Amino acid sequence: MDLGIRGKTAIVCASSKGLGLGCAEALAEAGVNLVMNARGADLLETEAARLRDTYGVEVTAVACDIGSDEGQAQVLGAAGGAPDILVNNNGGPPPGMWSDWDREDFVKALDANMLTPIALMKAVLPGMMERGWGRVVNITSQSVRAPIATLGLSNAARTGLTGYVAGTARQVAGSGVTINNLLPGVHDTDRIRTTDAAIMKQTGQSAEEVRAERASNIPVGRIGTREEFGQTCAFLCSQHAGFIVGQNILLDGGLNNLTM
Ligand code: NAP
Repeated sequence: MDLGIRGKTAIVCASSKGLGLGCAEALAEAGVNLVMNARGADLLETEAARLRDTYGVEVTAVACDIGSDEGQAQVLGAAGGAPDILVNNNGGPPPGMWSDWDREDFVKALDANMLTPIALMKAVLPGMMERGWGRVVNITSQSVRAPIATLGLSNAARTGLTGYVAGTARQVAGSGVTINNLLPGVHDTDRIRTTDAAIMKQTGQSAEEVRAERASNIPVGRIGTREEFGQTCAFLCSQHAGFIVGQNILLDGGLNNLTM
């Protein structure tokens, strides 16, 4: 399917690997020029070069912390201040117990997973509205719909972002700009491999056993891939998705049995 976005420009935050890279690659495949970002320059440059060579699009790599004011300014500057598409993503807060976290931990989590995407949206929305077209996709988590007990920091920050998007998406929709959230369930990325390693340590299970147990809990019988996640993101950024506004789209292979 032609997504109708060839030649547009996208900022994809936190995209040297995992879900962010999946989104960057699917957009590149659709002919979108990219500004990619991560803190580590080496992998970022390698992936940027791969997408440039494979898809023939322009790719600018900006190595910086997307949570910092300077990092945000650099990324926005690389897109000429006028991206057509923004994919918000960042590392997730650490797991723990409710009693582990003090004010500083909450401030860090809110900064990374709520205030950073809000700052970037505030920076790009006026231009998108003026030009009459824009797409924003925020990568959040299944924990927004079905909070996970050990992810209290993530639950708090992402739920805050979700509330902000619910109102903002409706305020900008009349100008041709859509904002939606993509909620990953369990996907095969380094983040999950780190969690797997913690479970292996706790239970003495092998990597294969932990993986098989995860998969057996998911109705489709496997965990998700960054490629299918990225393709869903690209569709939300397409010309065809102009009627999808303010949604929280769960990509979890059926894991969470929710009616609403
Ligand atoms: P991942 O494989 O660990 O990739 C994270 C990416 O973000 C890397 O490119 C990393 O590069 C970059 N990054 C991290 N912190 C950054 C920062 N401050 N500034 C710029 N770039 C940064 O993680 P993932 O699995 O794709 O997860 C992406 C998001 O989805 C996370 O918020 C995660 O909590 C959430 N999520 C994931 C899953 C899942 O199953 N994978 C499920 C639910 C929610 P550098 O380290 O070089 O900066």
